[in-house]
Amino acid sequence: MTVELICVGTELLLGNIVNTNAAFISEKCAMLGLSMYYQSVVGDNEGRLEELLKTAWNRSDVVILSGGLGPTQDDLTKETAAKVMGRPLVEDARARREIEDFMAKRGRLVTENNWKQAMVPKGSLVLYNPNGTAPGIIMEDGEKCMILLPGPPNELVPMFEEQVYPYLHRMQPEIICSKMVKLCGIGESSAETKILDLIERQSNPTVAPYAKTGEVHLRITAKAKSEQEAYRLMEPVEQELRARFGDLIYTDEPEVTLEMAIYELLKANGLTVTTAESCTGGLLAGRLINVPGISQYLKEGYVTYSNEAKEKLLGVPAETLKRHGAVSPQTAEAMAEGGAKAADADLCIAVTGIAGPDGGTEEKPVGLVYMSCYCRGTCYTEKNQYTGSRSKIREYSVASALTLLRRAILDHF
Ligand code: ATP
Ligand code: MG
Repeated sequence: MTVELICVGTELLLGNIVNTNAAFISEKCAMLGLSMYYQSVVGDNEGRLEELLKTAWNRSDVVILSGGLGPTQDDLTKETAAKVMGRPLVEDARARREIEDFMAKRGRLVTENNWKQAMVPKGSLVLYNPNGTAPGIIMEDGEKCMILLPGPPNELVPMFEEQVYPYLHRMQPEIICSKMVKLCGIGESSAETKILDLIERQSNPTVAPYAKTGEVHLRITAKAKSEQEAYRLMEPVEQELRARFGDLIYTDEPEVTLEMAIYELLKANGLTVTTAESCTGGLLAGRLINVPGISQYLKEGYVTYSNEAKEKLLGVPAETLKRHGAVSPQTAEAMAEGGAKAADADLCIAVTGIAGPDGGTEEKPVGLVYMSCYCRGTCYTEKNQYTGSRSKIREYSVASALTLLRRAILDHF
């Protein structure tokens, strides 16, 4: 079944408001397994709306409209839709009563134009609206239907969830479910290359990679009659991904983040960690501290932006800084080792690099970042070269440092 969405409102065309209704409705329709091929925005103009509605009604099974159900002159969605469907408007007694009640409860006077909202196209299903005065409307015609919804999101969202979603679900009982497998330590193109055969021969379920900062998420999506059935279909695909990516996968839970996965590893191995940061300036510690309960495992972290701080707080030898520079594998290792000693921690993850925009040289360009993870006597050290703005470089550095920390724990303990 195909669905098409029309959002009505000149404000949307002018960019005065963001079309959050479109994002919301699209996501719900995707979950319902409805294929949305077209979406449009049209201003509060009868002629253009009528033309668009005719086109939509011709080519789609379900046409959803949002906005323009209000009491004022420029609200003309209902009148235009009724005209296109060839139905007269009749008063709905319950809608009239509800408008009265709604206004009375708020101590507001019903004005003559409010009664316009009690008018519905003849033979429609009325979606009563406890959050406003405009009821929603469903007009059925054979296998097809047109659905009119009020524009304000606080009215549209509950109406959709409580009344439209179940209605559409009955029309098309197949649903779409998806699952996310999250990876770190591999780039998007390498990840895709490893599963190209799966992507190419897929039908149901499907697999698609999504690039996140320093991570790749693989979404498995299945279409089925029930959630249970969808998960049954996804299971072998997930197994296959596990076989191919092994411990590059850090979770298959939607809400688990990389720092949460690291927290679990620290806890399972009874390890303490500290951070020694130069160019990331606390962002790395901040990511770890996103996880409630981390205080047992991360007791302190160091922001050592200057050479003096690296010497003073981490005991990096002046000689190392002088001979190799602050951005070097030697300094990264000295920071990691010194940080672990200073905090009396099992592990220390250290980052030093050139975030830019200035300070780069031919030999050490902007975006060059060294990181080292000290694990009870051993340093795992990495060189990275990033591009982009200062904030992007810092963000990527944090993601790589977390990945390195996770890898070091997995390999060392
Ligand atoms: P009202 O009774 O408030 O006039 P309505 O059904 O006529 O409701 P509109 O007049 O089109 O709806 O929009 C009313 C308000 O709802 C807008 O000012 C805006 O705040 C919000 N709104 C409308 N359409 C959207 C949309 N597509 N996305 C997000 N918000 C929207
Ligand atoms: Mg309006």
